Amino acid sequence: MIRERAYPVDPWHIRETRLDLDLLAQSESVFALSNGHIGIRGNLDEGEPHGLPGTYLNSFYELRPLPHAEGGYGFPESGQTMVNVTNAKLMRLLVNDEPFDVRYGDLRSHERSLDMRAGTLERVVEWVSPSGQGVRVRTVRLVSFTQRAVVAFLYEVEPLDSAARLILQSELVANEQLPPVSKDPRVAAALDRPLQAEEMLEQRSGGLLVHRTKVSDLRMAAAMEHLVETPGRHAITTEGHADWLRTTVACRLEPGQKLRVVKLAAYGWSSMRSLPALRDQVGAALASARLDGWDGLVQQQQEFLDAFWDHSDVRVEGDPEVQQAVRFGLFHTLQAGARAEKRPIGSKGLTGPGYDGHTFWDAETFVLPALTYTQPSAAADVLRWRHSTLNLARERAQTLGLQGAAFPWRTIRGQECSGYWPAGTAGFHIAADIADAVRRYVQATGDYDFEREVGLELLVETARLWRSLGHHDRHGRFHIDGVTGPDEYTAVVNDNIYTNLMAQQNLMTAVDACKRHPDLARRFGVDDEEAASWRDAAAAVHIPYDKEIGVHQQCEGFTRLQEWDFENTPPEGYPLLLNYPYFDLYRKQVVKQADLVMAMYIRGDAFTPEEKARNFAYYDARTVRDSSLSACIQAVMAAETGHLELAHDYLGEAALMDLHDLHQNARDGVHVASLAGSWIALVAGLGGMRDFNGQLSFAPRLPNRINNLDFSLLWRGLRLRVNVTDEEVTYSLRNGGGSARLTLLHHGKEIEVTQVRPVTMPIPSAGAVGPSPSQPAGRAPVRRAAAHT
Ligand code: BGC
Repeated sequence: MIRERAYPVDPWHIRETRLDLDLLAQSESVFALSNGHIGIRGNLDEGEPHGLPGTYLNSFYELRPLPHAEGGYGFPESGQTMVNVTNAKLMRLLVNDEPFDVRYGDLRSHERSLDMRAGTLERVVEWVSPSGQGVRVRTVRLVSFTQRAVVAFLYEVEPLDSAARLILQSELVANEQLPPVSKDPRVAAALDRPLQAEEMLEQRSGGLLVHRTKVSDLRMAAAMEHLVETPGRHAITTEGHADWLRTTVACRLEPGQKLRVVKLAAYGWSSMRSLPALRDQVGAALASARLDGWDGLVQQQQEFLDAFWDHSDVRVEGDPEVQQAVRFGLFHTLQAGARAEKRPIGSKGLTGPGYDGHTFWDAETFVLPALTYTQPSAAADVLRWRHSTLNLARERAQTLGLQGAAFPWRTIRGQECSGYWPAGTAGFHIAADIADAVRRYVQATGDYDFEREVGLELLVETARLWRSLGHHDRHGRFHIDGVTGPDEYTAVVNDNIYTNLMAQQNLMTAVDACKRHPDLARRFGVDDEEAASWRDAAAAVHIPYDKEIGVHQQCEGFTRLQEWDFENTPPEGYPLLLNYPYFDLYRKQVVKQADLVMAMYIRGDAFTPEEKARNFAYYDARTVRDSSLSACIQAVMAAETGHLELAHDYLGEAALMDLHDLHQNARDGVHVASLAGSWIALVAGLGGMRDFNGQLSFAPRLPNRINNLDFSLLWRGLRLRVNVTDEEVTYSLRNGGGSARLTLLHHGKEIEVTQVRPVTMPIPSAGAVGPSPSQPAGRAPVRRAAAHT
């Protein structure tokens, strides 16, 4: 685990002031740069030592067999794994014949800094070679947000004290050797030499490599070019081989003189385009990067991020560590989605190989809420990608004997890639999560063209899935049996409450959208009878409740299961999935992650405040948070039920998930859902933001240590700013002109905000707070009130 304070508190930077080789793999994830299309891990420029080398292109994957110990009908037989593509990060330095390698010689200082306003990673090193030659190296890298195919590196080196001969070897390397994979099921399947060489082109100061995958038949190209500045003479040559290309720059410098090399690299991939077409595509990307040069790329990056922070920043006063972590979370959320452009957002973004690079419900349920209210076009693009996989989801439904569309639990390209039924295909709730993301996006933007183009068909096909998956019993109640909800420690159950409530919403959203677009609904074959059957099912959805103890049941029969023996579960027994058999987890009251608590957030309209308070106390005491998707949602419900200090604690956990490596697997990539979830914890948690039935509402309240919270969000083209202090809240509009007005609820009271008239409202004193929640023994979150600053 990363020791606390691995990264000093700083509002806009993640700084590492000392290189700790034991933490290399984690820091490579933390320092990963991406624009949603290309992702590069924070590997050292010279490639070694490394934790896990990684360069990824969104949706560039290889197929691999998914073996099942015992086969079964409908089990997917083929899996998709994100490929570690050609590495353009490599820049090896030789100082008077000695390779610059931090494991040798004397590393006098080593600092890396991720600048979240500039969108760059900088590294400054002073190193003395084993034979005594000192050098100062400064490198800066960026993955361009404005030119999505471009990655750029600046490499500066100067000799210290005496003159030195410097050789810089800058490379493109395909099929790098990867460290062996662990037994943890959450880690990726490593592929051995997945790329087959198709073409290599060497020029004086760069060149190109083209490769294709063996089975998935995808082609990729990577090209590079170097711009060199030295005070004196230098020699530059390039040589290549099928799997590598190397440009070498050689020079001799006096102390005070500097070698400055800008490496521009471009990537492209396609399942259809020919080799010449792809070659030209990366050539063009490189030409465009050359046109702007290093300074231009840096400036564009800055402007892009200025605009992003201007409308997305969240300011938290009183807890600087959380402030930093929330910005880090937003930065990675942006990196994951900014230029994904009709491609999925993986649960690790493009920061590591964890979960094989697959996308899950994490995208629609955790990442899209943040993007919908800050970068709506990026949210729409993810849903467009889902829509593009509709035929595959229809086929999957057919295979399963169902109607409509059964979206995969985990995938890259759209096919189901989960080999484990109970925590895979049975997670049918993903259909309703997609529908919920459509609802949220359309509601927040009023983008009815999108609803026609993409939304309605997704809603119709998911509604059909629910209607065929569920059934009415002899009393007319509608049940959905044999499914797994978000809590993967309780699997293949009847009437999971989250699934049922989300399906109910899905059915009703589809009914309403069909009414808005009757022509299109008819084209999709929806008639009055079908719409009526959705309405009937929604009205009759069964909600399991335990009258005796007065709490809802996460699924039918949940509250009568045996309790888990938390007292006798040692700290090293977590995560339980790695230390206890699933059969035991399945038959006991132990919850991996927010499930019913999640339902109380997204479907908060289906519970009374008293029910929420009782349910939260009951389930919080049984939730171990073995999934990083839990803390942010528990923060929301802790806040709503009046437990503000606990909400703050959970917010801290969600935001610090990777900076503190709380789940000890940040090495495989950052936890994008938790990072985006820190936005949810702040805005929906402490800000109390909800959007039930298209009505925007807030109920802000701050915990003791936070004395000011400030965030902005986009609602139907208007930019609303919410500033919360201990006593009052100010709502203001930042655009829209004199006539713009927005009606919203503040702690249940209707108010109207116009651009000329911000509204300040007092925060009502909190009413009676329900039963005090407690957590399973040893599982309480770190107390933020006590955390040092
Ligand atoms: C969680 C899922 C999540 C997946 C990917 C699992 O551990 O239980 O809810 O989608 O990780 O983040």
